[in-house]
Amino acid sequence: MRFSALFTRDGKEGAGGNRDATRHVPLYMSRLWNTPIRVRLTLWYVLLLALILVLFSAMLYLILDNGLDRQVDDDLRLSADQTRDVVRQEYGLLFVQRLEGESEIAPLGERGILVRIVGRDGQVVESAGPFRALKLPPEALTSTLLGQSLFLEANAPGDGIPIRLYSVPYQENGHVYGSIVVGQSLKPTQDTLHDLLLILALVVPVTLVVASAGGLFLANRALLPIDRVTKAAQRISAQDLSQRLDLALPVDEVGRLARTFNDMLARLEYAFHRQRQFTADASHELRTPLAIMKGNIGVALNRPRQGTEYQEVLGDLEEEVDRLTRLVEDLLLLARADAPQPMLHSEPLDLVVLLDVVADQMRPLASAKGIEITLHLPHQLNLHGDPDKLVRLFLNLLDNAVKYTHEGGQITLHAQDGPGEWAEVDVVDTGVGIPEEQLSHIFERFYRADEARSRAEGGSGIGLALAKWIAEAHGGSMQAQSEPGKGSTFFVRLPSSSAG
Ligand code: ADP
Repeated sequence: MRFSALFTRDGKEGAGGNRDATRHVPLYMSRLWNTPIRVRLTLWYVLLLALILVLFSAMLYLILDNGLDRQVDDDLRLSADQTRDVVRQEYGLLFVQRLEGESEIAPLGERGILVRIVGRDGQVVESAGPFRALKLPPEALTSTLLGQSLFLEANAPGDGIPIRLYSVPYQENGHVYGSIVVGQSLKPTQDTLHDLLLILALVVPVTLVVASAGGLFLANRALLPIDRVTKAAQRISAQDLSQRLDLALPVDEVGRLARTFNDMLARLEYAFHRQRQFTADASHELRTPLAIMKGNIGVALNRPRQGTEYQEVLGDLEEEVDRLTRLVEDLLLLARADAPQPMLHSEPLDLVVLLDVVADQMRPLASAKGIEITLHLPHQLNLHGDPDKLVRLFLNLLDNAVKYTHEGGQITLHAQDGPGEWAEVDVVDTGVGIPEEQLSHIFERFYRADEARSRAEGGSGIGLALAKWIAEAHGGSMQAQSEPGKGSTFFVRLPSSSAG
């Protein structure tokens, strides 16, 4: 038989390459890596702020320095113009106009502007304002003799205060008669810049300290819910998965995290529960045949017996062992069905051939109860599937049909190429049927609609669960319809292969 040998095929699970992914990071990096997020956040934030403040301060200083310099130069130009207006020349000699006996450059001097009128020979004709002792740098005069104006700096004698000088030629009709030099102390400018530096040196660190404290406070506040989530999560152990993070959190990132965690817990709890239930149910199912075997052996060993009696007992034991073997195989399959990627071996097959084989296997059992199995099959039904598992699916359905049908009943197997790319198989029996309220439960693991009858027939309550899983693992589905007392129909839909 083509499919009979396939029952015992064993699927091996791929060995996962679960290698230890150790990181090799320098010590200082790993320290930074392990510092709390709130500290790291604040550090980055303060670092960025410091950078911005330093850049801003430097720009402010440069702009102010530039502006003040320009202001001084503009003032000096104006003073030079005003001086030129009151300087006269007679017979090649320069002199300053007087008003009521007072030199007209005196008001400029009173405003703190240094004014010198120098003749072509380098002799100072007249001077006003501060820094009288200042010796003019020679280039202040040489450039003017060539008709050029010049800005330059000098230091006051004694205290060394820097002075900005502006020297312009005094000329009439293209002839240079001397120079006008005006100057102004740069001390006020320097003082302003110095004050600014002082303010910045004070404000920047204070701002950084306040920002760090504020940043740390805000980061703490923002991360507080995460701490709460962590603490709550730590309290939940594998033993008590029914607990949830009962946190009144808003619908923000942390709230979503907590809700996701809760959903994960619910799934875990369900999986744990299923696992426990499965183990408990499986042990329960295994206990019954073992107890029967133990009982039989006990009775047999009670007193010395004839050889035929031993044969009888061994025959009973063999039946129980067969039943146990079937049960263990089913359990194994069901356990594998829960694996993340259950092993399905897929190959092209003809469902008609497969159904024929299954029906042939079931016929002896059916005819022992006087039940007839009739097939209505098309010529061919091609699909891709796992022959072992599909045989198991239809064997389970036919086995149930035989189990739950009275003597002399009828079992019919219809198969057809359904609409779309579907192969449809109906297993119809004229058996006891399933009450409406139990119909929705029959595909659950270890569920028996009629406990006594099922057990008496050697059922374990996992046949349909397994059959449904096989149909779904193939991308198909399974449904049941029943009328108590009249019979049941099981509908199986499997994706057919277009190659057919
Ligand atoms: P079991 O091993 O008990 O037959 P199954 O999972 O195969 O377990 O079936 C679950 C329950 O569904 C059975 O206990 C039985 O009560 C009911 N059932 C399954 N197939 C039929 C059927 N063809 N007719 C009537 N009842 C059925």
